[in-house]
This record gives sequence, C-alpha cells and structure tokens, in this order.
Amino acid sequence: MKIYNTLTRTLEEFKPIEDGKVQMYTCGPTVYHFAHIGNLRTYMMEDVLEKFLRYSGYDVKRVMNITDVGHLTSDGDTGEDKMLKGAKREKKTVLEIAEFYKNAFFADCAKLNIKTPDVIEPATQCIDEFIKTIEGLIEKGYAYLADGNVYFDTSKVADYNALTGHSSEELMVGVREDVTEDTSKRNKSDFVLWFTKSKFDDQELKWNSPWGIGYPGWHIECSCISMKHCGEYLDIHCGGVDNIFPHHTNEIAQSEAYLGHKWCNYWFHVHHLNDETGKMSKSKGEFLTVSLLESKGYDPIAYRFFCLQSHYRKPLVFSYEALDQASATYKKLLRRIDNLKDGGDVDASYVQANRDKFIKAVGSDMNTALGITAIYDILKAQVSDATKIACLKDIDTVLSVNLVREKAPEAPVEIKEEAPKTEFELEIEALILERKEAKKAKNYARADEIRNYLKEKGVTLVDTAQGTTYTIE
Ligand code: AMP
Ligand code: ZN
Repeated sequence: MKIYNTLTRTLEEFKPIEDGKVQMYTCGPTVYHFAHIGNLRTYMMEDVLEKFLRYSGYDVKRVMNITDVGHLTSDGDTGEDKMLKGAKREKKTVLEIAEFYKNAFFADCAKLNIKTPDVIEPATQCIDEFIKTIEGLIEKGYAYLADGNVYFDTSKVADYNALTGHSSEELMVGVREDVTEDTSKRNKSDFVLWFTKSKFDDQELKWNSPWGIGYPGWHIECSCISMKHCGEYLDIHCGGVDNIFPHHTNEIAQSEAYLGHKWCNYWFHVHHLNDETGKMSKSKGEFLTVSLLESKGYDPIAYRFFCLQSHYRKPLVFSYEALDQASATYKKLLRRIDNLKDGGDVDASYVQANRDKFIKAVGSDMNTALGITAIYDILKAQVSDATKIACLKDIDTVLSVNLVREKAPEAPVEIKEEAPKTEFELEIEALILERKEAKKAKNYARADEIRNYLKEKGVTLVDTAQGTTYTIE
C-alpha cells in the first residue's frame, strides 16, 4: 500500500518495522468539551487507515492518549489550560469534566462506527513517565530549567523543522504557545516540558517533581505515552494537520533527543473540515456536533459516508446542503442493497478478486472515494445477490457504513385490537409530522420549537432511521 508521509512529503510504499505488525499512535482528544465533527473527521479517517491495515493482513496495535492536562489554548496572552477553562465554564472539577467528555467522545465515536483503540491512556495517569523522560532530556543536555519551568532546547536538534520543511522563524509567526511572551526561553521555538511557574495559580491538577510542584506540557504527553506502549520505534503517527506544528514537530524533537535515534517512520495527517465561514469552532458560530446532526434528523453514518467521499488530504467544507446530498445518495444506496436477495451460493473467488481490487484502489493513499465507487461496482457486477452481499460485507469491514442491514425476521402477524388514540396522542403525531415538514424545508427553528414544546409537556422525541417515535413521561 502507498501512503503519503508528511515527513518526506512524498507518497511512499508502506513498510512496517516488524513484518506483518503495525504500531500506530493517535493524538487523542482534549476532553474539555464535546468533539466537533471536524475533530471526528480526523478520527474517522484514522479509523479507516487502521481498518484498512487490518484488512490487508497486518496485526495492528493502536494507541491513543486522552489529553486531560497541559493543553493550552492559543488565544494570545489569555491562553490558558483548556481543561481548566472547561472546568470553570461548567463549574465542575477538571477530573469531572475529563470523565464526562471522554465518555461523550467515545459515544460519538461509536455512533460513527469508529473503533475504540487498543490502548487508551489519559495523560494524568502517566506523570511518572513524563518526569523520567524530562530528567533524561536534562541529563543529555536537551532541556534546561529557567525561571521555574523546564524547557526543551530546540537549538540542540539539527533538523527541528524536518516535519514542516519550514524554518522556525516562518513557523513562529502568529503562533503564541506555551508561556507567551516568555523571556526565560533561550530560543523562541523552545517549549515547556514541565510548568512550575504557572501563570494559572488556580491550576487544579499539580504533581510533585524534581523541579517543584507543577504539571506537564502537552507535547511530552504523546511522546511518553507512545513510548510506554509501543516502545522505541513507531510505524505511524496520526493527527490533524494543525498538529504538524508545533505539536508533532516538538514530539519528534524530544522523542529522538531522548532515544538517540529516529522514532517514527510515517506521519499521517488529515486535513481540516471547515464550515462555510472558515475554521470550525467550539465557541463561535454553530457548534457542530454529532448530537446536533442527530437532532436535525441526520443519521451519523450519513456523515461518515459524506467524509469518505473525499480524500483525507484535502480540506472539506461542511454545509447542510452537501450533507443532504450525501445523505440522499447513501439512503438510495442502502435501498438498493436492501433489495438484494439473501441466501444462495457465494462465488468465493469473485469475493477474493473483489478484495484484491479494493486493496489496490483504496491502498493508493487511503482513497476512500474509490472505496465508495467499489460499492457501485459490486452492485453492477454479473454475479449472484449472495456474492454481492458477501463482497459488500467484506469491504464494509473497512468503510464501516452499515452497508448490509440485517433484515428483520418476519414476525407472525398478530391482530391486536387498537385502543383509540387520545386527543393528546393525536396532537403529538400532528406535531411530529409538522416537524418533519419543517426540517425538510430547513426550518430548523420551527423543528426545535416543536421538540421543546413537547419536551415541556413531558414528551421526548426519538429520531431513528425509520422515523420519529416518542415517549411520554
Ligand atoms: P483536540 O481535541 O483539539 O486536541 O483535537 C483533536 C483532533 O482533531 C486533532 O487530531 C486535531 O488535529 C483534529 N482537528 C482539530 N480541528 C479540526 C478540524 N476542523 N477538522 C479536522 N480535524 C481537526
Ligand atoms: Zn499528540
């Protein structure tokens, strides 16, 4: 398979360190808020990569951290720890919000058929590893203590800019990270490994360290958690493009300085999902989450289908029109698949040939759009329905868009005397119908109004792929 490697800026033939085995590391979410659907685009494309590697016969180990400390916002001088910001916003403790948003993240992942990684490690569980690595970096002369904080000295590594291919000066323009306006640093691109001189006196989580009570910087987390679970060599490191600098650049610098050799061979970066105004945000404009899409009647898997239609290395613009279109295409496709007749003989050699073709197509730098085309090719093929179903189930282990739905067993017909509907039930049903029409006409305000009105009356609407049902308190 071929994969684009940000480090070499070329499409490379993928070759793991150990034959047949792949170790993958993914920068996990900062659990201070819900993930937006842009974050989830990145995790979804990483999920396809993982599943594709397994499909191609590799034994994969995927590790993900949970950032629950140390990730600073970059809003200039007001930059503060994102976790602390979240805790203040919700008047809860950092650990409470970490637990809540970690669970919310994995619930969203489940809705999008994103497999749970083999190892999930919260940063707050690895403080000893961070301290050990920072001590090692100081011993080797790559880190220094200045004015209370421990910094990594970027001037000590020869190819600090290898991942970006740009000079530090070019990259630092507009970047306000770590301790902003910090005069203690030796070089502008030096970054904090351990904070003690926090300007956030109310920082909740702090630990003892050889340099005083403090907390780790964000970049050291991923290096240490990867090394803890994958050892000294890593095959693939994943993340969104915004992570290339400074996060991944700093991860490489400190990991290789600590280990004394090359650390990770392939860097896989997913481009951003933007909304029509530009950058996707959790605080400005519409906060696009999976739950929001669901509340507007979308199937989360239709969003997955929408993402798979585009290449992961291209920016993708989200609009409801584009999602409507993908949704309609997806539904039509499912109807065609539903009409296939189950049972009968499967042509195993055709299934194998189809698999080989799929590996070749998608294996050319994760071309998921060709993966979608493969679905149509299967449906058009001159083979039995049973063979088509077998092929679809097979490729869906990678695409994960629920192509073959289990047919409901035919239940014996039971004739029941239905009680006449109450006036309240009739009103609810009329409103559900009106809400459906409102959504069709993109009048989401009216649709939400109806949902809220019913909620006040103790009626909860549940949107399913088959339509809207309700429960009464
Ligand atoms: P965070 O929770 O901020 O650490 O981000 C989680 C993941 O989402 C990281 O891999 C980011 O690079 C990625 N990411 C952030 N914004 C976007 C976006 N608009 N589109 C796609 N991925 C994103
Ligand atoms: Zn990371």
